[in-house]
Amino acid sequence: MSDLNSGFMRFVRELRETPREQIPRKIAADVRPNVRACLERAVQCTGTTELIGRHYRGLGLILVFHEVQQDVDAELRTGCSPAQLRNWIERLRAAGRDIVTLDEALQRLKDPSARPFAVISFDDAYRDTMKVALPVLEELQAPMTAFVPTGAITGSLFAWWLGLRELFKSRERVDIAAMNRQFSCPDLPSKARGLRRVSAWLMSDFSRAGDLTCTFDQYGISLPDLVAQYCLNEKELLEFSSHRLVTTGAHTDTHPCLADLDDSEVATEISSNKAYLERIVGRRVDHFAYPFGSHVACGSREASIAEAAGFRSAVTTRPGHLFPNHLHHRYMLPRQDAGAPHMTSHTMHSLLHGINRAITTRLGDPVSTSAVALLMCSALVG
Ligand SMILES: [Zn+2]
Repeated sequence: MSDLNSGFMRFVRELRETPREQIPRKIAADVRPNVRACLERAVQCTGTTELIGRHYRGLGLILVFHEVQQDVDAELRTGCSPAQLRNWIERLRAAGRDIVTLDEALQRLKDPSARPFAVISFDDAYRDTMKVALPVLEELQAPMTAFVPTGAITGSLFAWWLGLRELFKSRERVDIAAMNRQFSCPDLPSKARGLRRVSAWLMSDFSRAGDLTCTFDQYGISLPDLVAQYCLNEKELLEFSSHRLVTTGAHTDTHPCLADLDDSEVATEISSNKAYLERIVGRRVDHFAYPFGSHVACGSREASIAEAAGFRSAVTTRPGHLFPNHLHHRYMLPRQDAGAPHMTSHTMHSLLHGINRAITTRLGDPVSTSAVALLMCSALVG
């Protein structure tokens, strides 16, 4: 209870210091995730998980991870530990699910008698996907799909998220001029909080990313150096993608918010990345993941372009399990974020039963990709 009190008092203190026009956004960023966690806990405590899960637990589900870090706190809690990845795979299998490739997943959705399954995916071509996650998957004999943006491999990616993290890691005060905000960040909680806040500010309007260039210059942060430090290079990608457990998927050239681009730019981002990867890995690249993947970042236009580019499926980051009806929505498949740091047993349990889909759609349709259902997601989780 004292933790709750001190957390609440800190929130009130910060609210007083927040400029009036930014208060709604701060409430959205800080309160909504807690409301969702409380609802998940309430569902579990009242014993209704099984009941709700009957409607939302599908034949399959796709999990998404980003970084799998040996020291999660050192990276400001932006990824998960290898132990969490292992825990997920063991839980999935204990729940009777096979870990399969995306091709196998599409096949099983056509077969009413197929065994339940899960797909493990990783985005952004981090080096730790190969060095840390793959050894866990090898040991457990589980396949993975890795979605790779061209710029991560060539070093040209404008990886503002890596730049911001480096900034908060290395400084005790951070001034974000474009936001007109200064952050005092002498310790891990304040660094992690500051990073989350700036990231949320940016992701509510992706055009703000370019405004950070002068901040990175001012603090001597080099994005090419960070991309080289954290992402695979071409030689590593070749070795990684030839591993028998690895399927390489596409993730655009520059990792933009596709919804902000015009039709031809979206088509070029997608097809150029596909061609690049096919040249490097020497085989077809059949699956695609939308950068950011939320309802803000992609929709029916992007799905049509992904289909026209020749992919067999495209995945989002919208919550939900997979049902046979998803075969009619193969270019807008849901994926569950499984790589949040220090994920609790309660949260994992909820995800395994599809409870987060039930909550974010307010007990809406488990499959629909309609604007109404997605707006509901937006209203609750931002
Ligand atoms: Zn990504």
